Amino acid sequence: MSHPGPSTTTTHHVAHDDGSENMTSRDYYADSYAHFGIHEEMLKDSVRTGSYRAAIVNNGHLFKGKTVLDVGCGTGILSMFAAKAGASHVVGIDMSNIIDQAQKIIEANGFKDTITLVKGKLEESELPIKQFDIIISEWMGYFLLYESMLDTVLLARDKFLKPGGLIFPDNATLYMAAIEDQDYKEEKINFWDNVYGFDYSCIKDIALREPLVDTVELKSVVTDPCSIKHINLLTAKKEDLTFSAPFSLTATRNDYVHAFLAWFDISFDCTHKKIQFSTGPHAQYTHWKQTVFYTPSTLIVSEGQKITGQLTCSPNVKNNRDLDITIAYSVDGDESASTSVQYKMCVIHISLYFPCPFLTLVMDVNADRLSGLD
Ligand code: SAH
Repeated sequence: MSHPGPSTTTTHHVAHDDGSENMTSRDYYADSYAHFGIHEEMLKDSVRTGSYRAAIVNNGHLFKGKTVLDVGCGTGILSMFAAKAGASHVVGIDMSNIIDQAQKIIEANGFKDTITLVKGKLEESELPIKQFDIIISEWMGYFLLYESMLDTVLLARDKFLKPGGLIFPDNATLYMAAIEDQDYKEEKINFWDNVYGFDYSCIKDIALREPLVDTVELKSVVTDPCSIKHINLLTAKKEDLTFSAPFSLTATRNDYVHAFLAWFDISFDCTHKKIQFSTGPHAQYTHWKQTVFYTPSTLIVSEGQKITGQLTCSPNVKNNRDLDITIAYSVDGDESASTSVQYKMCVIHISLYFPCPFLTLVMDVNADRLSGLD
């Protein structure tokens, strides 16, 4: 998944209403998945969509004659992969108006009898099949868990998956490393020290605490990676998504460290030939990019030295879609120089870097206007 979700609460089988065709920008704000643009970005992420296709379509032996639940079906792409793989019946559920288009898409592709779509929030919906052999879902958010629907998938598992049933994907692992990022830190954080000669440094602290979602070049990584959280979707509980994990990052060269970096890997372990993909700096681009956590001061590391610490992650108490992340660290176990930084991943920040489709439109219009002023 790619973006904050909408908050529709109605539950009904898809009707042939005019869906998103009459939506205004206010409606898109409340139902950001309704716009095709967000789905275009996800569908065009070939690492993401191609991995799901390989995991599903190339494993007909797992899908043949099976019932499948697609949690958050969006445009219906995963449901159609499952139908192609031989599923006896697929139920796709989504709370966004995009499901009106999904209905047209499955009909246009001849899957009307194999795929049933349900519009509504999974947590509040009745499904036409009570127990499924397989759950498929693309639930991952930035930093794996930001705005993620993993809670929803775990609930779907407990309520609708037959004992011994399969989940696609079934494993996720979060990693971190440290990076040299002088130039970009200057541009994003130190910028606030001097804005047209004025002291804006009060914003610097706020900016530092907001993780940045961006692509990072592999050559910026100055330590070995360290896995900080593994999630087995067959056994994980909602409480596991609040966690504290130790890390130890060994420097691979003499360099400066300006930030920590996080990314995740996804794996479909139940497939015949294990399908996996990574969203790390060493791997092909995905729309999840990587997540950067700037440190207040620059660390100096020599090859072989260790940055050790603890990363704590929990949903924000006021808004459980936001994440509170604390990173406490020191170099070579020097407790006297240990630092702890509290970060907060929140909607507003992400939407500034990844504007909703309609915001992009507004910005484009403004850009045109501005260029007219030259
Ligand atoms: N499966 C599609 C879309 C993934 S995006 C694809 O792979 O392209 C995630 C989708 O989940 C969004 O369309 C969003 O509307 C839906 N969603 C998120 N939380 C949900 C919930 N609790 N119940 C139903 N749908 C949900």
